[in-house]
Amino acid sequence: MINKDRLIHEFMHLVSFDAESGHEKEICLYLQNKLTKLGLETKVDETGNLYGILPGNTAGREPILLSAHMDTVKPGIGKKAILHDNGTITSDQSTVLGADDAVGLAEILEVLTVIKESSLPHGDIEILFPVAEEIFSKGCQTFDFSMIKSRMAYTLDMSGPVGGVAIAAPSIISFSVRVHGKSSHAGFAPQDGIHAISIAAEALSQMRMGYVEDDTSVNVGTICGGTGKNIVPEQTELTGEIRSMDHEKAQRYVQKIRELFENSAKKAGGSISFTCEEHIRSYRIPKDAPVVKAYREACKKAGATPDPRETFGGSDNNRFVEHGISGVVISCAMNRVHTVYEYTHTDEMKKAAKILLYLITA
Ligand SMILES: [Zn+2]
Repeated sequence: MINKDRLIHEFMHLVSFDAESGHEKEICLYLQNKLTKLGLETKVDETGNLYGILPGNTAGREPILLSAHMDTVKPGIGKKAILHDNGTITSDQSTVLGADDAVGLAEILEVLTVIKESSLPHGDIEILFPVAEEIFSKGCQTFDFSMIKSRMAYTLDMSGPVGGVAIAAPSIISFSVRVHGKSSHAGFAPQDGIHAISIAAEALSQMRMGYVEDDTSVNVGTICGGTGKNIVPEQTELTGEIRSMDHEKAQRYVQKIRELFENSAKKAGGSISFTCEEHIRSYRIPKDAPVVKAYREACKKAGATPDPRETFGGSDNNRFVEHGISGVVISCAMNRVHTVYEYTHTDEMKKAAKILLYLITA
């Protein structure tokens, strides 16, 4: 029932929109028009998130929420989808392809089209196409979740083989430390200075990076400081992030890092300013939850192997779960995302769309 050519055509068209985070207006208008033609009532909120609902035609079915984000990462201006003979679709490698998340958008549109043309039975289907997912799911942060009826959600936004389903994702907390020292001439009076870079170095040397525990990663990603080769540096700024499947643990690590820098600064007579931001909150959906069970069954019917697992990436689904919706993130045929080598495959896209169709009409 899935029309592969139509699906590919839609995907290639969606890729042609320039829709880097913050620039989703045009693609949003196009998608809203599409959803309206497919019989959905739609609404765009103040942030730019597109919501739609297709009222059910069969009694006794649970409403279901499907989501894919409208924005892409950079470089995403002037994207061209190239269909190769073996069914792979790539960009021309001067930009990302934007399969993240145009495959999700295209698959949802295809499934809604099939349902309409074949008059298949379904309950209420809610659609949410958020903006700014790629910047810590900022778009969804302001969405009015009281509009959502569904208690079950599928977010089409995972890379890797189709069948993959993320049932747990981390909290992400970023931090920024500014070390304040005191400048002085490095040759005439170094003893009068307080060396901000040394303070940062001492604290850093006591920090572990990478997977500090099975469920937790720590990273310092940028460091910047000093004003000249012959000056004792007065300021140094570092930024980094913590990811953990355990929200309280992530908070404890932030506190630990703050204390390391505070102690190191104190010893040298300096000080620090520390800020942190909690971007998204971790979740874990039980393997036997209805949302996972239904996905497993749909996978089997579509000839895919269901593969429930954890992810270390955040997504809009973190927000859904925060608002009491039992949601998972599903693979939808994107690979090597956030690089110019990103690709998808037409057979995988079709398989993902099939799974989605079984999920809705089961
Ligand atoms: Zn994505």
